[in-house]
Amino acid sequence: MLDKVEEFYRPGSVREALRLLHTGNGKARVVAGGTGVIVGADRSTRFLIDITQAGLGYIRRKGNACHIGATTTMADLEASPVIRGLAGGIVTQASAACRSVQVRNRATLGGNLVTGSPATDIATPLLALNAELVMADRRGRRKIPLAAIYSTLRETLLDRALIVEIVVPSPPRARHWCYHKLARTEVDISLVNLAAGLQLDNRGRVKWARLSIGALAPTPVRAVLTEKLMIGRLLDETLLEEVCDQVAREVTPASDVRASAEYRRTMCRVLARRAIEECAGGSGCVL
Ligand SMILES: Cc1cc2nc3c(=O)[nH]c(=O)nc-3n(C[C@H](O)[C@H](O)[C@H](O)COP(=O)(O)OP(=O)(O)OC[C@H]3O[C@@H](n4cnc5c(N)ncnc54)[C@H](O)[C@@H]3O)c2cc1C
Repeated sequence: MLDKVEEFYRPGSVREALRLLHTGNGKARVVAGGTGVIVGADRSTRFLIDITQAGLGYIRRKGNACHIGATTTMADLEASPVIRGLAGGIVTQASAACRSVQVRNRATLGGNLVTGSPATDIATPLLALNAELVMADRRGRRKIPLAAIYSTLRETLLDRALIVEIVVPSPPRARHWCYHKLARTEVDISLVNLAAGLQLDNRGRVKWARLSIGALAPTPVRAVLTEKLMIGRLLDETLLEEVCDQVAREVTPASDVRASAEYRRTMCRVLARRAIEECAGGSGCVL
């Protein structure tokens, strides 16, 4: 409900947006694409601050990282050659998996991360890629790991602060990546999604592994024990089975109207196997 909103602002800079947010004294709310604000608006909001003209709609390659402005939309991410060239295109795939096209045209990356939906598509590969957020408040800017926004500090982090940029380091070329989403239909939100990265040495042993899984719990998670289990081991059918068992043990899925915890756990095994097989295939290793 936004029926108590008295004023709507469209600042032309981050500095101005922060000033308005501060003056709003807890009654101002930032709006970007509006797809989350409309659904979750509360009646205490008196002022809306639209940040889409604040200069945060960009995708830039700088050194060894991609810098993505917070109001970049899912459609912009999907269309960007820079993003397609990053980590085998997993961020492109996750943006395209955010349905529907109308939502992708409005929904911004910053808004998606703040909304903190358990079923977010984009956060799963960003977590796998060690993305960082650049936050701004009236005291200045600071960088925090993406994982921090999902911790209990979320409200504190966002108190009169903005996400201004998301920084995604470019991983080494020798790593192979993939993203998988399981949903009931093409336009549904995820029941499980998973991003995987793998690097094998020239004897087929796992040199580096990354597995992050979304839509199971309130936030996407890294399967760190499963990652550790793989390191230094020959990637064969025995290891693949162990990985599936470990990932199923490591996750704590929730049951909801879309799927039971047990179904999600089983699907984690399936997606993990598919993803590792696909990444291994990219390294020329057929399992
Ligand atoms: C019909 C529908 C289908 C959807 N399907 C999917 C899907 O398949 N996959 C998926 O991942 N998501 C899905 N979503 C979620 C959607 O991606 C998010 O709602 C969207 O990304 C939020 O971005 P926004 O720009 O619209 O945020 P807004 O609605 O503008 O804002 C959301 C929240 O973030 C705050 N905020 C926004 N930007 C910033 C910022 N830069 N700094 C600080 N605070 C900020 C706002 O104050 C608000 O609290 C769906 C949503 C809808 C409505």
